[in-house]
Amino acid sequence: MLAHKIELKKLNAEFESKKPQEIIAWALGEFSGHIAMTSSFGPESGVLLHMMSQVEPRTPVLFLETGYHFPETLAYRDQLVKLFGLKNVIDLRADAARKAKVVNDYAGVPYEKNPDLCCQINKVEPLDEVLKNYEAWMSGIRRNQTDFRKAVRIIEEYEGGIYKISPLANFTSRDAWWYLKEHQIPQHPLYEKGYLSIGCWPCTKPVQTGDDERSGRWAGMSKKECGIHTFKELKPKEEKEKEPPKDISANI
Ligand code: SF4
Repeated sequence: MLAHKIELKKLNAEFESKKPQEIIAWALGEFSGHIAMTSSFGPESGVLLHMMSQVEPRTPVLFLETGYHFPETLAYRDQLVKLFGLKNVIDLRADAARKAKVVNDYAGVPYEKNPDLCCQINKVEPLDEVLKNYEAWMSGIRRNQTDFRKAVRIIEEYEGGIYKISPLANFTSRDAWWYLKEHQIPQHPLYEKGYLSIGCWPCTKPVQTGDDERSGRWAGMSKKECGIHTFKELKPKEEKEKEPPKDISANI
């Protein structure tokens, strides 16, 4: 049950023509003190983090510390925290006993034998647990990243009583690239080596020329999402069934 009521349909219609910065400013005001964002500190993470820091750098930034990140990601995270003056980055970790059992059951490599379970305990469950403390969650996913993400609405209502806000839904990877360049934001050090989307090291490879930007994630598997964007049911139904507008590019 959502404690905080908003006019979801009306806002979604309005936000389709708004800049991400306007959506972020609205969200941080509307849910002041009750909103968090997630960040993987990957190649495009600097965009949403920078936009948020311009409005309220004390916004909680939830980082899923799986224990399997590239050292370059952790160094990049420290760099952006300092650069943007982020005041509240929170590491989320798996329940220690549950993780120890899974690691033992799978002889130390659950990501090889059961990546869905590995993502479930290291990402989905820790995030699900902490989101109970908030009314809204802001994420940097974009519609042109994957087929699944094409259907994302700018504001969605989820089971569990929170809103999910995706201010960059209409952004393209080109928009993100230009935004980082325009604001002189450093890129993730592995980007130059062909890593266009970066998660945990066991499940991330460089992208081959011509392949889509997330093709290096769980390469060779049918798995495309870790589960944090799919673990709850969207509602109401009519919002879920509606197709998002096509060919909208953000104007920044
Ligand atoms: S991305 Fe790979 S290593 Fe990371 S939590 Fe998921 S399965 Fe495990």
